[in-house]
Amino acid sequence: MLFSILAETSDQLRKTRSRLAKTALLSQCISDAEFASRPVVCAYLAGDVRQSKLGVGYAALNAVRDTEPAPKSSTTVASIDADLATLAAISGTGSKQRREEHLRAMLRSLTAREQAFLSDLVLGELRQGALTSLVLEAIASAAGAAVADVRRAYMLEPDLGRICDAAFDGTAALAAFKLEVFQPVQPMLAQTAQSITDALQRMASARFELKLDGARIQVHKDGTQVRVYTRNLNEVTHAVPEVLEVAANLEAERLVLDGEVIALREDGTPLPFQVTMRRFGRKADVEKTRAQIPLSIRFFDCLLRDHTQVFDLPLRQRAAILEQTVGASLMAPSLTTANADEAGAFLTRALAEGHEGVMVKHLELPYEAGARGAGWLKLKHAHTLDLVVLAAEWGSGRRRGKLSNLHLGAYDAERGDFVMLGKTFKGLTDRLLVWQTEALLARETHRDDYTVHVRPELVVEVAFNDVQQSSQYPAGMALRFARVKQYRDDKPATQADTLQTVRTIFAAAIAGTGAPSTG
Ligand code: AMP
Repeated sequence: MLFSILAETSDQLRKTRSRLAKTALLSQCISDAEFASRPVVCAYLAGDVRQSKLGVGYAALNAVRDTEPAPKSSTTVASIDADLATLAAISGTGSKQRREEHLRAMLRSLTAREQAFLSDLVLGELRQGALTSLVLEAIASAAGAAVADVRRAYMLEPDLGRICDAAFDGTAALAAFKLEVFQPVQPMLAQTAQSITDALQRMASARFELKLDGARIQVHKDGTQVRVYTRNLNEVTHAVPEVLEVAANLEAERLVLDGEVIALREDGTPLPFQVTMRRFGRKADVEKTRAQIPLSIRFFDCLLRDHTQVFDLPLRQRAAILEQTVGASLMAPSLTTANADEAGAFLTRALAEGHEGVMVKHLELPYEAGARGAGWLKLKHAHTLDLVVLAAEWGSGRRRGKLSNLHLGAYDAERGDFVMLGKTFKGLTDRLLVWQTEALLARETHRDDYTVHVRPELVVEVAFNDVQQSSQYPAGMALRFARVKQYRDDKPATQADTLQTVRTIFAAAIAGTGAPSTG
């Protein structure tokens, strides 16, 4: 296949917005390539060269930028690959000079458009996750394979060329890629949930786990050998002797486990993330820092046990296998529930203990290496504030005749007044609706068509995710995703949270630091 076809396809991709059309272009290119060139074609389409280190950067390319282009395309993909292999092999004295000469010779055989494409390719400027994902779909379509099978194979084998060859060989060849001990895979990532309610709506059956703010690790074991990798797949075996000891004591012969190491206080509460990370400093004296900052390991997934690949199984089964393998005390504490109150209590406890939040995991989904899939959600912030009810709007539908949507205010200590921060009708049970309608009507000061205004006396505990800027409310701030947790009839309105507290949370949100839970 001519290199110019890839350069043209790259141009067309840039002009096309439709995902389907992009996949069709890529798929056509892969189908048209002769068998032997397909691996190179797939790599180049995804923006990658096949040599791990070319030794060519901006400076080298700049130095040869004035090379006269060829008038006509004649260079093949295979010869570019062979030339790049030669380039990568240049080393020793005078290598800079020889590299430049070789590059110049390559560029002389390319048209101006091909030269530009080659530069982008060499500099890695075409590389992006979305492109790889499209190429995987295109491989499936060109080979008549199922996209899910191709994606699964890619989790285990990052070489697109090998994936492409296997896809053309059929389903069995794709299924033959195996998770191997000591070949780490990209860890599964999480999407963000806005709230417990949001998470429960997105997951038919959910497992909540503590989100431990430590360092992600993947533990591989085969017999007496154990190796440990970070989330970037760097090996850190030497840095975590505690993990090696734990893994050596596990009965299973072969294992691939996913988990987090974290420095804990004696009472089990977490030390800050930066403390854990001191164990991974470049020159950390392991034995010395180990004595000062012992690490604990908490596993949360099992990808392989003995001769069984487990990662394809739903989490429900993986979790059971993990528990059999490591025991509950070495696992991230968890709660399986569909009940928002129970889950809320779990989150509140997690935050109160100083954890980052919770992970919410779909019990019926497999492990998706490298993917920010729908199977895992992270839920970090849930602040609570005690606010005062300033007014309430009449409900509609099932709530007709009841005071439902609450106007919530914080106490402005400077002005001695209440300032509205938002409204909510979420989190109210039928029983609470009846109770609050009566309690609010007893405090009515005046009303209009929709709203009953009340004396600011009732305090309600409200959970919310963030404070955001608002032109609608007088303090210039509003609560995001507010929901009622409970009435605080033990608190007078003067002890409600103040506007100044809310300002602190807002300032922390703007600074991106996240604010402490006030609940
Ligand atoms: P984030 O880094 O905020 O995207 O959150 C994902 C990270 O949370 C993972 O990469 C893990 O390092 C970490 N984590 C902590 N506890 C858990 C858990 N129970 N399950 C999965 N990941 C966890």
